[in-house]
Amino acid sequence: MSQALSVNTVFSRRVLAWFDKHGRKHLPWQQDINAYRVWLSEIMLQQTQVTTVIPYFERFTAQFPTVQSLAAAPIDQVLHLWTGLGYYARARNLHKCAQRVVSEYGGEFPASVDALAELPGIGRSTAGAIVSIAFQKRAAILDGNVKRVLARYHAVEGWPGQSDVVSQLWDIAETYTPKTRANHYTQAMMDMGATLCTRSKPKCDQCPLRDGCIAYAQGNPQDYPGKKPKKALPEKTVQLLMLRNPAGDLLLQQRPAQGIWGGLWSFPELALEVDAQEYAEDHYGKVIEIETWNSYRHTFSHYHLDITPVLIQLAKSPRTIGEAATHWYNPHQPDALGLAAPVKKLLEKLAQLDPRNNAALPTPKRTSSVKKTQ
Ligand code: SF4
Repeated sequence: MSQALSVNTVFSRRVLAWFDKHGRKHLPWQQDINAYRVWLSEIMLQQTQVTTVIPYFERFTAQFPTVQSLAAAPIDQVLHLWTGLGYYARARNLHKCAQRVVSEYGGEFPASVDALAELPGIGRSTAGAIVSIAFQKRAAILDGNVKRVLARYHAVEGWPGQSDVVSQLWDIAETYTPKTRANHYTQAMMDMGATLCTRSKPKCDQCPLRDGCIAYAQGNPQDYPGKKPKKALPEKTVQLLMLRNPAGDLLLQQRPAQGIWGGLWSFPELALEVDAQEYAEDHYGKVIEIETWNSYRHTFSHYHLDITPVLIQLAKSPRTIGEAATHWYNPHQPDALGLAAPVKKLLEKLAQLDPRNNAALPTPKRTSSVKKTQ
């Protein structure tokens, strides 16, 4: 245990020594420190860079020097001053929070993480920052910058959006936060994450934590923290009916303007369970040959589409072919049509199988799988 404590002390001592030499100490919210100013700066700094926040902070505190003046202001005035900072829910919560601090706490921010975290727009990390910086009491923080430093230092696997990963990081953050100089330690950890242990190209050669940092020793700081896992995409299936008339032209239909391949030209589609030959005979007349090709996958941003192309040789060109706009497409003299990418690929293959290439009439060959296209 005593050894563990000393390891923790070494960590915070290194961080504090770095802060004394290199930490930022002249930011506007680091002057005339009080809970109101720390809280305001912490809310503004969520998802926003320091350089962007500085002029907003100065205008805000000039207009609303106290939590009471902010609470009494009309929300429109608050939103007006916030304009350009984005994430307007923050400004609304800021205003609500100021009103609660005035009505419930007589205009004095509570000095405990639990009480602060009950207020609108204040999470556990922001509450920790207010308690440590404004009240100079021991409280851990875990904003995005600190998550990155700690995940790398301990090579914590996994995405911090997962509860088990974030709770592991909170445990580490709590362990390292020192009893004294918690205000400087908090500021230092934020600064190190923002200036040294950056998302890409961390400056490990200047980092006071380099000696104990596992990601540095492994040579892969960029792998931490883990990325958000990609969701498994749903899968859909479809048959594309490549209907060929005796002249060798292929039937295309224009797709509705809305939905996938909106307004592009494609082959008629059919659900995978439906018998293609029966369907074609019912809708397009006598079928003299049918060939099912290998299925292949086309991936959209939100789902996979498994396509089974079916080549159907019709005995005659049908007279009526439904309501959609249609076109008989000659693969040898392609018209300038907007084609869905998988359809274009299939038409290129069909051009090679075109009966007009051969003296004899169509004997479509089974193809190998068509590669995925974008
Ligand atoms: S050594 Fe590099 S990766 Fe490790 S904490 Fe420092 S800057 Fe981050």
